[in-house]
Amino acid sequence: MTREEILKKRAEYVFPCVTHFYAEPLVADRAQGHHLWDIEGHQYLDFFGGILTVGVGHCHPKVTGRIKEQIGRLQHSSTVYPTEAMVALAEKLAEITPGRIQKSFFTNSGTEANEKAILVARMATGSYDIVGLRHAYSGHSQLAKSVTGMSNWRRGGVISVGISHALNPYCYRCPLKLTYPNCGVACAEDVESAIHTTTSGAIAAFIAEPIQGAGGFITPPKEYFKLVFTIVKKYGGLFISDEVQTGFARTGKKWFGIEHWQVEPDIITCAKAMANGSPVGATLATPEVADSYKGLTISTFGGNPVTAVAARATIEVIEEENLLENVERVGKYFRRKLEGLQAKHPLIGDVRGLGLMQGLELVKDRETKEPAPHETNQFMERCRANGLLIGKGGLWNNVIRLSPPMNIGEAQVDDAIERMDKSLAEMRA
Ligand code: PMP
Repeated sequence: MTREEILKKRAEYVFPCVTHFYAEPLVADRAQGHHLWDIEGHQYLDFFGGILTVGVGHCHPKVTGRIKEQIGRLQHSSTVYPTEAMVALAEKLAEITPGRIQKSFFTNSGTEANEKAILVARMATGSYDIVGLRHAYSGHSQLAKSVTGMSNWRRGGVISVGISHALNPYCYRCPLKLTYPNCGVACAEDVESAIHTTTSGAIAAFIAEPIQGAGGFITPPKEYFKLVFTIVKKYGGLFISDEVQTGFARTGKKWFGIEHWQVEPDIITCAKAMANGSPVGATLATPEVADSYKGLTISTFGGNPVTAVAARATIEVIEEENLLENVERVGKYFRRKLEGLQAKHPLIGDVRGLGLMQGLELVKDRETKEPAPHETNQFMERCRANGLLIGKGGLWNNVIRLSPPMNIGEAQVDDAIERMDKSLAEMRA
């Protein structure tokens, strides 16, 4: 099909709520390593990686090879029979997860992983209330939408009973109008206030992303989650770390984002980069939490042998290519270069993130911090024209999200920075 035919059929047969980037959508055709090509043959350096999904590069030969091998051997059996692929992945996950997390429940997506986490937290504690954070994104089911803390993702009805949202640690736009570190990280206290005023007093869980993803890579001060953890435990709750975006080395040095904040979660949820783009998610928990699940449950495709081998191969690639170290080193280099761009272009109000998860909040004016969604779109368009794919997010659609494959080097960073610099200069011209 031609680009035009694809877009015509898309309009005719696909839900319009599934939106695409760019005024003229880019029809993706093929990809390899750090690059993606559209249907017309234009090549792009991919600095969004399929929404932080393509962690080890497009069509990584090891991951693709394992998928091909498995698909010819056993594509599906459902969970009525155990497979080596599934238990080997579960064992590997137990090895890399922090603290006492040991058991996996496999799903097809991050949404389902969060659903299962909340369900099992309620069963394990006997409490019902869940506290999340404003500006969070948790998924597209009714429950996950209810945990989500952004109005544009909550439309269509949510089931808010038993779910409340505390203030988030958004230093650039502090909800308490304070400044770090003089604030004493006062925002953490709002979790206790939310428990006192919006729950029954005992909670099933607190759920949060170590760095808020769709919310615009909002990165908390280093003390925040430690303070919150103490509060959560005081009220009997489990700590759920939603690692759908931060998981699998993305933040550098550590496998999971929460490890940077020195908290041992009871449950981790993951998906996205877990299998480098194959549809798999997981709810990972301590043995006592996992064992507390009462009643039957099944996920027909959860733990599918093809996605399970893809996930294991992805973890092996991260180990073999030393990506925990690479992300830390190249991430720091990238950050310095982004701060250089910020010094040059007033549109960039804030630079934040960890490792190869870096965000740029774009503002019309650095004093008023008025969000610049129109300029964000313009920047995206210019970068596309200059052969660079980047992402965006944030409640006001004004945060550029940068999450390249984790095996890039300084050369790719220089290339991307040059294209971004050129794009920003063209916007000012
Ligand atoms: N949690 C977070 C932090 C996410 O970013 C997402 C997806 N953007 C989800 C959950 C839901 O994952 P999925 O789209 O795979 O259902």
